[in-house]
Amino acid sequence: MQRIALASRPTGAPVAENFSFESVAIPIAKDGEVLVKLHYMSLDPYMRGRMDDAKSYAAPVAIGGTMEAGAVGEVISSNSPDFQPGDFAFGMFGWASHGCLPANQLQKLDPNHGPITTALGVLGMPGFTGWHGLNTYGKPKAGETLVVAAATGPVGSMVGQLAKQAGLRTVGIAGGAEKCALATEKFGFDICLDHRAYADANSLRKDLAVACPDGIDIYFENVAGKVLEAVIPLMNPHGRIPVCGMISWYGGAQGADATLTAPMIWRNILVKFLSVNGFIIMNHFDQYPEFLKQVGPMVAKGEVQYIEDIAEGLENAPAAFMAMLKGGNMGKQIVKLI
Ligand code: NDP
Repeated sequence: MQRIALASRPTGAPVAENFSFESVAIPIAKDGEVLVKLHYMSLDPYMRGRMDDAKSYAAPVAIGGTMEAGAVGEVISSNSPDFQPGDFAFGMFGWASHGCLPANQLQKLDPNHGPITTALGVLGMPGFTGWHGLNTYGKPKAGETLVVAAATGPVGSMVGQLAKQAGLRTVGIAGGAEKCALATEKFGFDICLDHRAYADANSLRKDLAVACPDGIDIYFENVAGKVLEAVIPLMNPHGRIPVCGMISWYGGAQGADATLTAPMIWRNILVKFLSVNGFIIMNHFDQYPEFLKQVGPMVAKGEVQYIEDIAEGLENAPAAFMAMLKGGNMGKQIVKLI
C-alpha cells in the first residue's frame, strides 16, 4: 500500500519537502478491526495545524507518521460482526491507499445518503461544522444579515444556504470572480465580495457596508485577517460570531491585516455586546445523527447544493492540499485514490 508521511514540519506555508510518499505493507486486521481499501480521502484546513508541534486541541502528527485524514472506502476484510466485505465505511484512516481501524471507530455509509464522497464534505465533518456552528452559536433569525468568508467551501456554503433558508440576508466573501459567481448562482448568497480585489480592510469594509445596509448580525468566522478587520466595526448590537477557523493566519503571517489590534476587537465586543464562541466540531459529534437526519434529505432533494473538487491520485495530495490553503480549491477538496 501507499501512504504519505510527514517528513518535516513547515515554517509558514507547507512545501513539497514536508511530505514523503512511501510504500509499506498492507496492515492485517486484528480482532475487532476492519481493513478498508480507500477510494476517496478528504483534505481539510485543520491538517495544517497537525503539521506543527504546538500544543493544540489535538496531538500533532509525528515526524514519519502518516498524515491524518478522513477517508471513505470499501471493506476488504473484517474481524468484526458489524462490517462485511463490500460494505462502505468512513474513518480517520490517513493519507493512504488502505486503512485498518477498530470497527467502533468506523461509520457505515448509507447508500441512500448519496455518493460516498458526500461523507467527506456536505454530509461529513465540514457540512456538520457549518450546521452546528450556525445553529448553536449563530442563532439565526429571519430578517437578519449574515456574513461568511470561504463562502464556496464546504463549511461556508452550508452556512450560507442554511441561513438563506432561515430568511437571512446572506453576504459571502470569496477569492476571485469565479467563486463569487458560484456563491450567488449556486449557493444563493444575496451578494458575494471578492476579498482579493481589496488592498486593505478599509476598502473591503466600505463595500461590505453597502452590501449590509442593516449592519451584520452574524459573522461566521472562517478566515480572520483582513475580513475580520473589515467586519468587526459593522457588527450590530447583540451580534454573534461563531469562531470556526482563521485560515488566513494558519501560516502564521499577518501581512496586510497588521492594523488589526486587540483593543479594536475588544472595544467592539464590549460596546456591541457581541457573543463570540469558539468551537471544535470533534467535541460535538453527539449531534451528528441529528444533522444527518435534517440535512441528508435536503441534500437528496437538491435543497442544499454542494460542489467537490477532486484531485487524482494519492501522490497529488500534497499539491492539492497546499493549493487549498491558498484558495486553489473550487468546493470541497477531495483526493480520488483508485
Ligand atoms: P475551504 O474548502 O473553504 O478551503 C479553505 C478556503 O479558505 C480557501 O478555499 C480560500 O477560499 C479561503 N482562504 C484561504 N486563505 C484565505 C485568506 N487569506 N483570506 C480569506 N480566505 C482565505 O475550507 P473548509 O470549508 O473546509 O473550512 C473553512 C474554515 O472552517 C477553515 O478555517 C477551517 O479551518 C474551519 N473549520 C473549523 C472546524 C472546527 O471544528 N472549528 C471544522 C472544519 C473546518 P477563497 O478562495 O474563497 O478565499
